[in-house]
Amino acid sequence: MDGSFRIGSIFGIPIHIHYTFLLVIPLFAWIIGSQINYTIEDIASIGVPIDTSLLTAGFVPYIVGTIVALGLFFGVLVHELAHSLVARAKGIRINSITLMIFGGIATMEEGIPDPKAELPMALVGPVASLVFGILCSLMAYAVPLFNVSPGMAGVLIFILGYLGMLNIILCFFNLIPAFPMDGGRVLRAWLAGRMPLHKATRIAADIGKGFAIIFGIIGLFFSPFLILIALFIYIGANMESTAVKYSHLLQDVKVGDMMSSPVTIVPPAMPVRQVIEMMYTSKHLGFPVVERDTLIGMITLADVNRTSPIDREAMQVRDIMTRDPISLPPTAPVIDALKIMSARDIGRIPIVQDDRILGIVTRTDILKVMELRKI
Ligand SMILES: [Zn+2]
Repeated sequence: MDGSFRIGSIFGIPIHIHYTFLLVIPLFAWIIGSQINYTIEDIASIGVPIDTSLLTAGFVPYIVGTIVALGLFFGVLVHELAHSLVARAKGIRINSITLMIFGGIATMEEGIPDPKAELPMALVGPVASLVFGILCSLMAYAVPLFNVSPGMAGVLIFILGYLGMLNIILCFFNLIPAFPMDGGRVLRAWLAGRMPLHKATRIAADIGKGFAIIFGIIGLFFSPFLILIALFIYIGANMESTAVKYSHLLQDVKVGDMMSSPVTIVPPAMPVRQVIEMMYTSKHLGFPVVERDTLIGMITLADVNRTSPIDREAMQVRDIMTRDPISLPPTAPVIDALKIMSARDIGRIPIVQDDRILGIVTRTDILKVMELRKI
């Protein structure tokens, strides 16, 4: 995902952190730290002699707040790992887990899993949060059993109690039946047992949007934070229904059925200046580069733009083309072509069989087919 960096891997799954996560940690630390004074009575209710003077001393509230904020994201990581491990057990590849502003996202190889796999996959996340939350709460109650000073006991009970509460909230928040929350997936998987997947997704997405609108209205009066969540749900619901609509409209279309053929090709020795002229006259912004009947590269406007106009004068296609381009066989599903295009941010894929180029598919071609299929 853009704007994220890798911090390591667990069970072979790369863990990434999005920059929004780095913004939110100090914010949470501050919010949690400033709430300490309101929770002292709750801490005292555990019923053992506890000294809260350490908890409220100097910078301690903010250190404690930082620990709770990091603990919360550890809880999010546990939640996402639970999703990922069940997905993997169902044979779905997990590319990575990204921690970001509203929690985590596990990136899966397939966009829309089989409903039978989706139900346990979606449910296990909130279950993991609930278990983690209960464990933290139990540990808070167990603190007086250990030989710690009354001041330290106050600090530990605050951290564990707060983490327990947050993870239990995380569990129930995720069970709201709205995309992109797990509850939305549970609902979709349940509906998909009774109707086609695209219909199930549309209904689940509409319910999600309904929740978003209700949250947005409540948020207008009570909390700007809720408006942010409403926006997040609305966008998520929309993305999910668009993704499913695409794969429904494009199901069983092969790239071979819709590729443009024959395709204009260029030799590696062609001067770059001449390719630019070809782009002007043909209105195509990319050409396959072919040498002795074999595809050896792609040259696109982006490749040309990477060179300075002066250098270009003396250059040939082979100097600036993208080597080893991604190609697909004519039998590949169009939806795969679309996934590759959006994952790699490319606009065209050559269609190749036995090393010979048969044609080319572009993003525009796919969008046109989708328009036609809507009829
Ligand atoms: Zn989840």
